[in-house]
Amino acid sequence: MQPKGSGEIPEETVRVARAAFPKGSLAIRVRDELGVLFTDEQFAGLFAVRGKPAWSPGRLALVLVLQFVEGLTDRQAAEAVRARIDWKYALALEVADPGFDFSVLSEFRDRLVSADGGQPVLDGILTAAREKGLLSRGGRARTDSAHVLSAARDLNWLELVGESLRAALDAVACSEPEWLSAHALPDWFTHYSTRIEDSRFPKSQAKRAEVGRRIGSDGMRLLEMLWTEAPLTLRALPEVELLRKLWIQQFHLVEGEVERRDPKDRPPGAQRLVTPYDPEARGSVKRDTFWDGFKVHLTETCEPGTVHLVTDVTTTAATVPDDRMAAVVHAGLARRDLLPDEHWVDTGYANAQTLAAAQRDHQVALHGPLKSVTVPHARGEAAYGQDAFTIDWDNQHVTCPNGVTSTQWHQRRSEDGLPAIRVRFSPADCRTCPQLRACVNSPKAQRREINLKPREEYEALQQARKLQQTDEWKDRYKIRAGVEGTISQAVQACGLRRSRYRGLAKTSLQHQLTGAAINLIRINAWLTGQPHARTRTSPLAALRPAA
Ligand code: SF4
Repeated sequence: MQPKGSGEIPEETVRVARAAFPKGSLAIRVRDELGVLFTDEQFAGLFAVRGKPAWSPGRLALVLVLQFVEGLTDRQAAEAVRARIDWKYALALEVADPGFDFSVLSEFRDRLVSADGGQPVLDGILTAAREKGLLSRGGRARTDSAHVLSAARDLNWLELVGESLRAALDAVACSEPEWLSAHALPDWFTHYSTRIEDSRFPKSQAKRAEVGRRIGSDGMRLLEMLWTEAPLTLRALPEVELLRKLWIQQFHLVEGEVERRDPKDRPPGAQRLVTPYDPEARGSVKRDTFWDGFKVHLTETCEPGTVHLVTDVTTTAATVPDDRMAAVVHAGLARRDLLPDEHWVDTGYANAQTLAAAQRDHQVALHGPLKSVTVPHARGEAAYGQDAFTIDWDNQHVTCPNGVTSTQWHQRRSEDGLPAIRVRFSPADCRTCPQLRACVNSPKAQRREINLKPREEYEALQQARKLQQTDEWKDRYKIRAGVEGTISQAVQACGLRRSRYRGLAKTSLQHQLTGAAINLIRINAWLTGQPHARTRTSPLAALRPAA
């Protein structure tokens, strides 16, 4: 790379752009108002010291964001650099600049992926917005997640195992063709030479099961040969490794025969492979939506009267639960000095741990509906629920409504491995208590037991539960709903719902660029005086009588 910087805009480019766009355009306005967003030096670490000179990476970063603003393909984006005067203005290029071949964008994305370069692109815009006074510290932020479909097409079970075997055979054929010619069974050429399509399988369940067993046996035989009589290099092929993992997950031997595993006997969703073409995609479900792919968490500022900017974009496997992400989002925001004072989130993000950790580690007030507790005694509202007991944290005992004091206080780990406290009353006290049956859950229990979270988490949870009962909190919580409009904008304008690329790292880069593009769109709307979109109300809903 030979740093050039984005430099001054050539005079001729300014003259032509002003004449062609007398009212400006997004690209022109962004350059005029935010200045140079990315410099070549920012990306110097992605390039070797020696080698062919690269096209300016600072300009390429801006091209990637503008590409997402307009939802263009690589070819269309390269064409826009060559042909559009407003893009040349934003990139500070001469009118006659021929641009670059579209394949340069793909190569640059690969470099960004290898160095987690999507974050600096998003941050470059946030830094410029802060310098312009469009982004301030603290205030309120909101977060929600969206499901993202893998770039690979959905496969049913027969296609999954058949395509995985076909991909492994193709990889072996490329690497050691002579070995495979000598060892392949004759009917492998019939069954696995072309793509596995569901339409080629029989319709009846019995015959489909037979095909599944045949694929399972063929895969098992190939794996046995690869591990006993093949060159060692073949075992290291990614397609072979995927086949090995998938066969462990999907098949087992029953009396020497290869059989499909029962669904209950398969590994948890976080480990389960769903396609041979994207080994990092996972299957998940949220309410009535099932999907294979990833999940993205978008965080944006939401103070009224300001431009709402996306401050954090985090992509995970589809199976990572939302309650693990509050801490991750806060750490990312803290690293970049973007923490809000209040963080409003959807159901699933807030629990005792995340409420306490947000306050303790970042002084952020996390607000999100808590999951309902299904056990009446733990919920606290039953006659002998937890709320009826008095906890003395300092002396480590609990007093029941009958005035009896607990005798055991044990620090332990819950089934999820989290710190917990088990409090027990003495059987001698409880057995003779007339309230025993109302106090305990199990008909055979001879004494009361209470499971508590650590004090900090317990108190954070109690405080949040009380707060969430109030009308004021319910009214303030309405601000969270606006982030759904952001997700909708990202889906419709930037194609967020389906990954353009394969693998978590590239999908994550896509989402960072999407966040950066939304910010440019919003800054442009702010500068041109376009009001925030309002939540639509249907004609029927508008007629709803006041409560
Ligand atoms: S059963 Fe035990 S803990 Fe419950 S009220 Fe009676 S004495 Fe108290």
